[in-house]
Amino acid sequence: MAFDEQSKVWKDGEFIDWKDATVHVASHVMHYGSSIFEGIRCYKTKNGSAIFRLSDHMKRFINSSTIYRMDIPFSLEELNKACKETVKINQLNEAYIRPLVYRGYHSLGVDPSKCPVEVVILAWKWGAYLGPEALEIGVDVRVASWNRLAPNTMPALAKSGANYMNSQLIKMEAQADGYKEGIALNRDGTISEGSGENIFVVSNGMLYTPPLSDSILPGITRASIIQIAEDFDIKVVEQSIPREMLYIADEVFFTGTAAEVTPIKSVDHVQIGKGKRGPITKKVQERFFNILKGNEEDLYHWLDYL
Ligand code: PMP
Repeated sequence: MAFDEQSKVWKDGEFIDWKDATVHVASHVMHYGSSIFEGIRCYKTKNGSAIFRLSDHMKRFINSSTIYRMDIPFSLEELNKACKETVKINQLNEAYIRPLVYRGYHSLGVDPSKCPVEVVILAWKWGAYLGPEALEIGVDVRVASWNRLAPNTMPALAKSGANYMNSQLIKMEAQADGYKEGIALNRDGTISEGSGENIFVVSNGMLYTPPLSDSILPGITRASIIQIAEDFDIKVVEQSIPREMLYIADEVFFTGTAAEVTPIKSVDHVQIGKGKRGPITKKVQERFFNILKGNEEDLYHWLDYL
């Protein structure tokens, strides 16, 4: 992944040069982690470039900000339009889009109320997050020694920058031990999610995934896979998942904007199923990619064309 330093950044309603998109070190966000962001993909389809579930992502952006009493001075429609324009002005036909809102420069102290709320949108090219071969052969992961955020500490439903301090601990630990990713348990010791992905377990032909109350981000890809599975008459159960259910699962996979649908082939060196992408993972993954590449009818109106 590399940035294009010639690209433009949308900032509070106008485009500025990449090099000018900076913040001062005395900004509130630098000291207290006061930021909210989104991660969205734009795909090249047969009918032109389209952003996947743009409005759903931007609704989550606004929801995350509401949780933190951060007033975004733009409407949902304005934010959607700004995302599209950022892709277009940078002449990208495929992109990863990163809207970010943060508390800026005014005064320092925990109370953020006097610090301005600033919004930026970046876009760049980004390939498969867990490696190009991961989508087919799967990844090796471990259960993290770090728990995911406990309820009533840091709100897991908000996609806040600060939550990713926890994600970084999970990711760095996994990588230091030679794994691609870590799966965190929640405070109750049941499964929550990866450092940047939701998780699904296939057992006896059914799909299991933790509920929103188990310290997870309400993933847009997660919701999409639930919809696709239900349309295939695959039963989806949102329930707390004990750790050991991973080891005896038929299949396990991650979902996320960056990770898309990535099979997991082992957890803690225990092989999952046949140790490769299983049939149900393949089935939902294929429908997912077919829709977002425009190869299958977009029944759910997930594609928002530029
Ligand atoms: N959980 C976490 C912690 C994440 O960072 C992400 C990526 N945004 C996800 C789950 C997946 O969410 P989505 O499918 O909306 O990208």
